[in-house]
Amino acid sequence: MICVTLGRTRHRQIMTEHANLAQRGAELVELRLDWISRTPRVGELLRNRPTATVVTIRLPADGGRFSGSEEVRQTLLREAIAAGVEYVDLEEELASKIRRYGKTKRIISYHNMQETPDDLEEIHERLSKLDADVVKVVTMANSPIDNVRLLNLVKNSKVPTVAFCMGEYGLVSRILCGKFGAPFTYCTFSKERVMAPGQLPFDEMKKLYRFDQINEATAVFGVLGDPIGHSWSPLLHNASFKRMGLNAVYLPIRVPPDDFQETLKAFDSLGIRGYSVTIPHKEAALAFADQANELTQKIGAANTLYRNSAGLWRATNTDLPAAMQSLELGLAAKEETGLSGKRVLLLGAGGAARAIGLGLVQAGAVLTLSNRSKDRGKALADDLGCQFITWANRGSQSVDIIVNCTPIGMFPEMNQSPYEQYWFRDGTIVFDTIYNPENTMLLREAREHRCLTVSGIEMFIRQAAAQFKRFTGRDVSLDDMRTTLRRAISPVRVKTDDGHEAPSEAAPRDTTNPPPGDSPTAES
Ligand code: NAP
Repeated sequence: MICVTLGRTRHRQIMTEHANLAQRGAELVELRLDWISRTPRVGELLRNRPTATVVTIRLPADGGRFSGSEEVRQTLLREAIAAGVEYVDLEEELASKIRRYGKTKRIISYHNMQETPDDLEEIHERLSKLDADVVKVVTMANSPIDNVRLLNLVKNSKVPTVAFCMGEYGLVSRILCGKFGAPFTYCTFSKERVMAPGQLPFDEMKKLYRFDQINEATAVFGVLGDPIGHSWSPLLHNASFKRMGLNAVYLPIRVPPDDFQETLKAFDSLGIRGYSVTIPHKEAALAFADQANELTQKIGAANTLYRNSAGLWRATNTDLPAAMQSLELGLAAKEETGLSGKRVLLLGAGGAARAIGLGLVQAGAVLTLSNRSKDRGKALADDLGCQFITWANRGSQSVDIIVNCTPIGMFPEMNQSPYEQYWFRDGTIVFDTIYNPENTMLLREAREHRCLTVSGIEMFIRQAAAQFKRFTGRDVSLDDMRTTLRRAISPVRVKTDDGHEAPSEAAPRDTTNPPPGDSPTAES
């Protein structure tokens, strides 16, 4: 079950939003009476409550706002119990002062807004002994590993326990506590109304992560990065699990660079079956793996870790084949196949350029690399055995294909391009690895000069689909993934069923963004 926390200053707002949550499918709502600006009228709030309810009056030290006397607080809680509320939340020091009465269940809670303390087990044991129906332990995560400690509490406890971490690192335990037996987790009304650090909105918890369906058998996957909040991978993978009816969940997991190895070892006990890996962990992922295929070793970076049948971690790189398949789309639009002998200009010398450059050389392309920093560009060109030209000279070559592996033109700096438009030649294939926005300035200008374009969306969905296959053994529809991603990155948004925001039906479509099948390009 998902418990949605409601905190508003007025009674009417609380009752309206409580009704709204019931309509949206909420089964349990926590009313935070400490948010109400006047003395709360408990009877009025509970009389026609549309869902099972938790009544909580939190003090500032525990992340709340209650400024009345202790006597008033206890009176309000007793009133709620007398009104037959389903749950009251009582902190340790209150638990012995408020007796059990009627059918109201007691959540005995502990909050630590600073850290995840060393004596978690002792705290949990103390709370368990206070006539608890549910023990709740919520701490601040200062490292991703703190999640594991909270989840172990849930797993090993005899009393039903809700335990998770707050903060940016805490998302893992907020969602996985359901897998290890927590009777519910907490979330907030909407993303504008976050009441505790790291809280997820109800729609995301319900529709994207499908918390209600998470159980012991749920397979867990995730994407490792730092930062990770921007990643679209959780949307693509979770939407695919849902569409295919798989009991699986995919989490964004923020891991600081120095903690990579230690975190993955600690996460072993969570039974995570596979990871996507993004900046800055791709090299570390390869170093962590027990096995890696030859190509991944050659690239020196992995974007995927998955367990093989013997339980060993295998590293692979799905970026490279995804990029090569995307380029094949461009060639197919020109009724050509194969990169052998094609003159290619590669812009950039970072991780993406290294992988794609290797793929191009292996395919027999005649590669020229250009990069802003000469030393880095020259070093990669030497490794790949190709020509290097300075950034100032990047427009001087006559080429068949241009590949952008720089972030120039990426959201939010969308009015930039890594290539001057008067350098384009008719019929050149232009592949931009950027996928947000789909129609970068580079691609728009390339089309104006009768070039054939391929968007980074094609690479992104293909690398994700290849990961999905490694994770689940199942093929996923590229069309479905493309539609999901396009909806998510469209500039005009409305709320959708999956808890994300999608383009408004009424939104005028960018005329430079032709729909699939309509385009003279290879975009779709
Ligand atoms: P990276 O390792 O940080 O490399 C970035 C490269 O861009 C470097 O060569 C850097 O040049 C250059 N650069 C950055 N800002 C620049 C500027 N203002 N002017 C000129 N050059 C600039 O990043 P990466 O991992 O290779 O990723 C590069 C791009 O690939 C990103 O935009 C990402 O969206 C895209 N990508 C797409 C996919 C996909 O699935 N579609 C997958 C992976 C990556 P210096 O060496 O001079 O710093």
